[in-house]
Amino acid sequence: MLNAKVKELLNQQVNKEFYSAYLYLDFSNYYEARGLNGFANWYKIQAQEERDHALLFYQYLHNNNETVTLEAIDKPDKVFTCDMDPLKAGLGHEEYVTSLINDIYAAAYEVKDFRTMQFLDWFVKEQGEEETNANDLISKMELFGSDPKSLYMLNSELAARVYSAPSLVL
Ligand code: MG
Repeated sequence: MLNAKVKELLNQQVNKEFYSAYLYLDFSNYYEARGLNGFANWYKIQAQEERDHALLFYQYLHNNNETVTLEAIDKPDKVFTCDMDPLKAGLGHEEYVTSLINDIYAAAYEVKDFRTMQFLDWFVKEQGEEETNANDLISKMELFGSDPKSLYMLNSELAARVYSAPSLVL
């Protein structure tokens, strides 16, 4: 049985990850409307990854004989005024998610819940990659976004991203 606080934070993370999926689908939604199908593809796949993360937290709770409460998912409310806005919002959001993962880790550490810490190790590494990816997208957009030909090539690069299931299997 999991510690009550650890369980509560893990349950909340199911919702947070589904919200991330919803948020990134909205980014995809924005870029589709802008005609930037590569950016739209990149964030649609990002949304699929976030859904996978939610299901991993869901499964981890069930594997530990815990019940899961599915709460309402917040409406994405970001307003974008330029094509850089979602990229910067994405970085800010990933930094926030990193802080959430760290909070769960800290709670698990406090009660010597080594199983949950080991489960979370994958997410600690994943968050490092997410922040790197988000920073890279901003850098590329800063460098190439103002030139139509370069933007076209960047969009083509992002169109090539394909979905792959998470390496963590529970
Ligand atoms: Mg995630």
